Amino acid sequence: MGKYLIYLSVFFGHYLYGQSVTIHYEWQRTDRIKKATLQVDADGTYLLSDNFLFNAVAFSVEGHADLNGFSLEATGDQFALEEDPHFEHVDGMKPVGLVHLAGATGQCELIISGYQGRVEVFLINSQLKQTPAWRYEQKEDVTGDCSEPVSIDQTAWRTGLPAPVYTRSFTTVKHIIVHHSAGANSAADYYEVVRAIYLYHTDVRGWSDIGYNYLIAPDGTLFKGRDPDIGEQDNVRGAHFCGKNSGTMGVCLLGTYTNVDPPQKALESLVLLIAWKLSKETLSIYGTETHAANPDLGHIAGHRDGCATECPGQRTYNLLDKIRIAVDTAASGCDIPGVTGPQLFSIYPNPATKGRIFVSPGTEAYQSLELIDARGQMVRRIVMEPDVELVELSTVDLLAGLYIIKLSGLGKAITAKVVVTPP
Ligand SMILES: [Zn+2]
Repeated sequence: MGKYLIYLSVFFGHYLYGQSVTIHYEWQRTDRIKKATLQVDADGTYLLSDNFLFNAVAFSVEGHADLNGFSLEATGDQFALEEDPHFEHVDGMKPVGLVHLAGATGQCELIISGYQGRVEVFLINSQLKQTPAWRYEQKEDVTGDCSEPVSIDQTAWRTGLPAPVYTRSFTTVKHIIVHHSAGANSAADYYEVVRAIYLYHTDVRGWSDIGYNYLIAPDGTLFKGRDPDIGEQDNVRGAHFCGKNSGTMGVCLLGTYTNVDPPQKALESLVLLIAWKLSKETLSIYGTETHAANPDLGHIAGHRDGCATECPGQRTYNLLDKIRIAVDTAASGCDIPGVTGPQLFSIYPNPATKGRIFVSPGTEAYQSLELIDARGQMVRRIVMEPDVELVELSTVDLLAGLYIIKLSGLGKAITAKVVVTPP
């Protein structure tokens, strides 16, 4: 703990000059986090350096701050700052999300304009001291049987970090809530990212443990989240869903999926995890239930279905329908309500309330899809490629009512009913 004089460099016209500000550094509970506090009175570039290596940075700024006036430079990269939707303001301070650096560094620069007030910077070192053997464990997941996907225990990825100590509670899960971490999409090491999130949730934000039940890296690696001690990983009550965590299991895709889709490998792991959990709880893929945060919350839902937040990223959210269909396909060999039964192919959503429907023909090969109205008139016909897994149909210009979807090919045809309502 100590006080250091740091130069504040201000670009003014063509001249660069410095003026000193006091930055107060202190250890935050463990020797993994140093908290730097400074009072910002002028636009400028603030250099943070205190003989401490760190690979992630988080902030708290006064609640009125416009984060567009902030950026962080470290390891040759520049990062925009965004409010972290997973935390409340504490003592008037706005929580800013974790920034993951490309590697460890001893200094960073905080560039601030249009803000005067207190800034708290949390310099975090989540690095592994050595490469553990479990890191390279790989096991093939079997699709179609809804078995539990292979995942990495907290006790493995948490190596060298303090254990959580608290009284767990458990919940009967009805909803799988999908999140994104809103961190960098190009982190070098996702073990260190998960460790940084753990340190951030516990030692920066004061939670008892990491908030999510599971975390999924862009390469598909599945990490167990919150430590259930002797209980079940998927049923330990987390902290991730609008302060109303009962009945939920939180899954976080590592990265930011506002403008890009989550990587295919991450989606594949997510689908296998959801298929296993729905099968275990006998929950239907397309079903909804009443929840304290939403009276019509899907068994598969996004964070924003519970409260106002960008999470799980617009692009992830746009994919939720396709994720449901993919779960349907992945779970073809196991008992999830709505998958097995008399219907030979799946239609989602049905009733079609969103201006489009997805049709998954299943494993049989069909050559065409026809949409037939209640008078027997064909209103759509789509020629299908062999092996097509998913067909998307717009229902925007259709009259409300009952329609028949007919799949034909190789001398056979199957039909199912779909109800179209105005979007
Ligand atoms: Zn979220």
